[in-house]
Amino acid sequence: MADNVNSLPFFYGNITREEAEEYLRQTGMGNGLYLLRQSRNYLGGFALSVSHSGRCYHYTIERQPNEMYAIAGGKSHRNPVDVIDYHSQEMDGLVCLLRKPCNRPKNMQPKVGPFEDLKEKLIREYVKQTWNLQGAALEQAIISQRPQLEKRIATTAHEKMPWFHGAITREASEPRLQNGSRTNGKFLIRQRDQDGSYALCLLHEGQVMHYRIDRDRTGKLSIPDGKKFDTLWQLVEHYSYKPDGLLRVLTDPCPRPPGEINTRPLPNPQASSGLLPSFHTAAEGIVSMIKNIPIPGRTKSTRDAHGKKTGQGNFNPYEITKEAMPMDTEVYESPYADPDELRSSTVDRSQLFLEDGELGSGNFGTVMKGIYKMRKTEKTVAVKILKNDDNQSVRDEMLREADVMQQLDNPYIVRMIGICEAESLMLVMELAELGPLHKFLQKNKQTSIKNITELVHQVSMGMKYLEEHNFVHRDLAARNVLLVTQHYAKISDFGLSKAVAEEQNYYKAKGHGKWPVKWYAPECINYFKFSSKSDVWSFGVLMWEAFSYGQKPYKGMKGNDVMQMIESGQRMEAPANCPSEMYDLMRTCWTYKVDERPPFSVVEPRLRDYYYDIAQ
Ligand code: ATP
Repeated sequence: MADNVNSLPFFYGNITREEAEEYLRQTGMGNGLYLLRQSRNYLGGFALSVSHSGRCYHYTIERQPNEMYAIAGGKSHRNPVDVIDYHSQEMDGLVCLLRKPCNRPKNMQPKVGPFEDLKEKLIREYVKQTWNLQGAALEQAIISQRPQLEKRIATTAHEKMPWFHGAITREASEPRLQNGSRTNGKFLIRQRDQDGSYALCLLHEGQVMHYRIDRDRTGKLSIPDGKKFDTLWQLVEHYSYKPDGLLRVLTDPCPRPPGEINTRPLPNPQASSGLLPSFHTAAEGIVSMIKNIPIPGRTKSTRDAHGKKTGQGNFNPYEITKEAMPMDTEVYESPYADPDELRSSTVDRSQLFLEDGELGSGNFGTVMKGIYKMRKTEKTVAVKILKNDDNQSVRDEMLREADVMQQLDNPYIVRMIGICEAESLMLVMELAELGPLHKFLQKNKQTSIKNITELVHQVSMGMKYLEEHNFVHRDLAARNVLLVTQHYAKISDFGLSKAVAEEQNYYKAKGHGKWPVKWYAPECINYFKFSSKSDVWSFGVLMWEAFSYGQKPYKGMKGNDVMQMIESGQRMEAPANCPSEMYDLMRTCWTYKVDERPPFSVVEPRLRDYYYDIAQ
């Protein structure tokens, strides 16, 4: 959303209320003259400034948890522009109708907030440090989890600020402010309790004033009777440009003693703008601070029962994003990413322990859960066991699948750990315990659109990787997307997959097989031609399955009828409540002509943009 807003001529970005009033004044203060700016206290929120009868009025447009926008107590809308359109027709609590936009002066760009400016650097450092990632794994983590990472950083940014002193007592805070320079307005913030409250300690005429910063039930922070903020750094930024009830504005951050590490909250970064004398110096300082702070619990072996990494330090209980990210699981990186683990395509049977109970079954046989003891760590794994071991063609098929899987290494693809030849032929793979996507969605109808978009986007990332590496999947469907967690999907089942030559870029099947026709593009059925573009068609069907919560595509229809339907130009209708952007994308994936159908290199960024838009 923010990106779209940036192009609006009446959006000013991160300006203060006073600056907004000045712009309205310069433009004549007509009744209903308005401008939009970024909220300085609510993450992802906006503020609307309107002039009426010679005065300025300011309304916060809050971003609600359901990803809608509303002026407090007012009607919800899909985006801030819709809020403005609505209030140009209906006053509905506003002082007047919005009549005329107050456009930015020529050549003025929306003002970039301090956080926006730093975000890129901070996210990268944070991911590098927290999960010890680099290269493609780092890039993929940032792409797939950017909205969550931004929130995590924003809500814990204060911990790396020089003015944040962690859980020290009132008594300990006073000498810190009174020693050294005794500038009026020197300040620090300390943590009071585990309940998420803080104290602002401010030097005024040689005395230290202590202001409580409470946290309400929705997680917002405020000095009693003061303005509410999502984050401490926004609060500091606000009180450093106006006292707003304090004895004076905040001026000099009292630096935390060197080497002291805050114990309670999650590590992280952020800066404030007007507060720190040199913004860029501050930014660099924070980044280097992150680099120097050891992240607690970065041990690969500490995991909970679900294979999620634990010991990630003490998570702030008030953090907005509490869900585990893909990088928190043990299957984000290849088990062989650790140079101490010898890469081998064979698994030693004596190191493989099968557990009771099946994870699932298919044409080949059964899939069981197991433990594989590697050199350094133990991995929970999924083991596909061939049921009819002496059938050579089935054996060959499984070995071909293993051969394809062995060449792939991407966080959004189930990796093969090795082949084990023992009582039966066994394919040892990474475990994706929550099982196939369609079944998960059938059972979990409350899954949000944002969550579905996140998962589908991850699938598009895995498919983009396949496309780049000249592999065609040929069986992409929701049944072959397995979930590691509710927020982490992996593509599986490479039984039909083929490597294709770069020049030719398609695979020509010798004849019609037992094919998932409802997922296949017309050129597959008509000419037996398979390419990444035909995978794009299947991806459209997979999207349809996901947004319809696991329903069967073309329900009740026979393969032949489906083919006729497609040939006649008809396509499936949008699933109920499917966002129009997502249905449009499905329809694009179902472009009849291969040349006109977009590749994954186009589909993935389209999904990504939409996902960022709704997840911000
Ligand atoms: P088919 O050929 O009929 O599609 P298959 O014999 O190739 O089936 P899979 O589809 O790979 O078998 O697996 C069957 C089921 O086993 C899956 O639907 C899933 O429930 C479970 N399963 C497979 N691989 C894994 C895994 N890596 N982690 C967890 N469960 C898995």
